[in-house]
Amino acid sequence: MRLSRACLAVWIWSAACGAAPGQGQDHSVVGSDVYRRIRAGIDAVRAIDTHDHLWPFDRLPGLMETDRGRGMTLFGLWERSYYPQVGPLTTRKPGEPFDAWWARARHDFDNARATGFYRYQLPAFRDLYGVDFDTLTDDQARALDAKVFDNYRDDRWVRHVVTERANIDLMLNDPYWGRLDFRTHYPFEVLVFNVTPLLDGFHPSEFKEPSDDPYRFARDRGLPTATLDDYLAVLDRLFREAKSRGAVCLKSTRAYSRTLRFEDVPKGQAARIYGRPRGELTPQEVQDFQDFIMWRLVGLSAAHGLPFQIHTGHGKLQGSNPLLLVDLIEANPKTKFILFHGGYPWVGETGAIVLRHGRHVWVDSVWLPTISPTMARRALHEWLEVMPSDRILWGADCNHAEGIYGATVTTRAVLAEVLAEKVLRGELAEAHAARIGRQILRENALALFPQLRDRLGPDRGR
Ligand SMILES: [Zn+2]
Repeated sequence: MRLSRACLAVWIWSAACGAAPGQGQDHSVVGSDVYRRIRAGIDAVRAIDTHDHLWPFDRLPGLMETDRGRGMTLFGLWERSYYPQVGPLTTRKPGEPFDAWWARARHDFDNARATGFYRYQLPAFRDLYGVDFDTLTDDQARALDAKVFDNYRDDRWVRHVVTERANIDLMLNDPYWGRLDFRTHYPFEVLVFNVTPLLDGFHPSEFKEPSDDPYRFARDRGLPTATLDDYLAVLDRLFREAKSRGAVCLKSTRAYSRTLRFEDVPKGQAARIYGRPRGELTPQEVQDFQDFIMWRLVGLSAAHGLPFQIHTGHGKLQGSNPLLLVDLIEANPKTKFILFHGGYPWVGETGAIVLRHGRHVWVDSVWLPTISPTMARRALHEWLEVMPSDRILWGADCNHAEGIYGATVTTRAVLAEVLAEKVLRGELAEAHAARIGRQILRENALALFPQLRDRLGPDRGR
C-alpha cells in the first residue's frame, strides 16, 4: 500500500513524537526529533534584534521606591510589560512591603492565564529564576521579588540576560524617551532614528519635550526655521546627524494616533499650513501637513540609505491596516519599507504587500509572537510561502531584561515550530529550514542594515 503525502506526514508525526493521543497537534511537532534539532540550531543563533525600548539603566520603567529602597520589583516587571492590556494589576504603593501588595495582587492573573501578554514573560521566570509563575506559591513569589530587586542593583544583569541568556548579539533600540538626542547606553545597542514627532512640525508649540523638539535642535545649531524650506533643511540636517551618530534606520509609531493613509499633498498647501499653531488649523490641515512630511521622510529615507520601520496594525485600529500604505510604498520604490508587527491582525494582507512589492518591502514579526503565538505561527507559515526567506525579520519590543528574554524565547519557539512543521509535512528540507531560521534571526538584518557588520566582533560576520 502506498501512503499519500498527507498520510505519510501524519505517520511521521506520530512516529516521531511518541505523544499520547489527545495531547494536541503542537505536542506532535514540538515533541519530534526534527523540532529538537531545529530548535537547538535556532537557540544557538546569535540574534540581531531589530526593535526594543531598553531605557538607560537608571531610568528603567518599573523602578520604584520600596521598603528596601529604590529598585526593580516583581510589580514593576508586570506593570511595565504588555500584561496590563489583558488583565488587572493591583498597584504596589511606594514603600509598601511585598507581602502586603501580594496579598491583594495574587489573583490578578486568574483570567489571563492563556493570553500571550501574560505568557510571554513566563520563560524569564522559569529560566532566569527557576519558578513556574502559573503555580507560584506565596513563598516563591516573595523570593522572586527579592531576587528581581537584587539583580537590578547593577546593570550587569541586563547585559548578562540580553547578550548571554537571550543570546542577542546586537539590538536596534528605539529611544522614544529622547528621540532627537541620538544617544545609546548599552554596548549591544544600535541607534534608531524615531521620526514620529517630526510630522507635527508645523509649529513650535507642538513640542513639549526638548528631546523631541526639532526647533530646539535647529536653535542649538543656528539654523533658521522661518519657512517650510527652512524646516525641510532642518529635517535633512537631522538625518545627517542621526546617521553620523550610528542610526541604521527610521521608525514611525504614528499608527497609534492617526490613519496610515498618507496623501501626496502639494508643497504649496503644506507651506500655507506651516508656522500656524494647531488652534488656527482644521483637523484636515493638520493631517495634510503630516501627510506632506511623511512623503518627505520617505524620500529622505531613500536619500540617506536609512530603511523605514513603520508600525502597522494594533494601534488606532480603524486606520492601521498596512494596505493603507500601499500607495506610498508603490510611489517610492527607492525606499526600503519595513512593516512592523506583521500588520497584526492583518498578517495575510502584509504578506500580500511583500509579495507584490517585495523588492523594497520587508516584514518584521516583532511583537507578533508576544501578542499571539498562534497568529505568529500562521503568519510565518504563510509568509514563507509567499515571499523569499530574506524578507522576514524579528524583534523583542520590550523595555526590561525579563521581557526581552521572554519575547526572544517565545519567538525562537514559534519559529522552530513552524519550520519543523514544514519539514515534517515534507514541504521543506531540514537543512533549508535551519538556514531560514538563521536568516530570520540574524542574517536578514545584517543584509538590510549593512553598517551592523562594523559592530560585530571578530569571526561573527557570517
Ligand atoms: Zn515598540
